[in-house]
Amino acid sequence: MYKRYSQKKKKINKMKVFSVFIIVMIIVVSIIKNINRNYIMTIVDDRKENIETMKNGTEIEETIQEDKYITASLVSKKEYPDEWLEDFNKKIIELQKEFPSGTYWNHAGSMQDGNSVTNTPCNHSKDGELYCNSYHGNSDNAYDKKMTSVQCLGFASMLSDKVFGTDAEATRFENYDDIRIGDQARINNNSHTVFIIDKTDDYVVVAECNADYKTCIINWGRKIPREKLKGWYITRWK
Ligand SMILES: [Zn+2]
Repeated sequence: MYKRYSQKKKKINKMKVFSVFIIVMIIVVSIIKNINRNYIMTIVDDRKENIETMKNGTEIEETIQEDKYITASLVSKKEYPDEWLEDFNKKIIELQKEFPSGTYWNHAGSMQDGNSVTNTPCNHSKDGELYCNSYHGNSDNAYDKKMTSVQCLGFASMLSDKVFGTDAEATRFENYDDIRIGDQARINNNSHTVFIIDKTDDYVVVAECNADYKTCIINWGRKIPREKLKGWYITRWK
């Protein structure tokens, strides 16, 4: 009787051990499966995310590029030689990269005059023109006196040469309606020069340096209404 009972107990114990083993195995397998699945899903998600970022990154970059740079509108295309405006816009974008808005056209902290931009403003009331860059081009000839060609007029003269080349003659004129893209305007009672990037019957869009008269800060894209563009103009067009 005791023996039988004991055998029965052994059998039950074996079965218990076996079923516990099976349960543990099931749990282990399902955990491994789950970990693996999560790992794979993470990789897939990461890839998805990377692709999304790449896509969005490219899209954002492209949009910023379109919005960021000031260019001539192609509306008045007929008034310009074939491809001229497209070439002009390409140059203007390159120039905006080389001389970005918000930087200063100077050689602050160095005595080396040149064509550099820095992040340090001039202090004209303290240093005068000491750290301002200068540029001598044919546009100088349009002014009453040969100017030193620093600050606003030096910058406009340089942009003009980048577009029309150094040999193009500079001629002075006074009628707003004759202004063409690429011309310069001498405004504010003969005290400030701007370079014209775009023009309509009502306003121009300009690039300029030292509009604050204090720091040689570069700015692209200011809109100046026709009635405020009083003064005289310089063209390199023939
Ligand atoms: Zn300066």
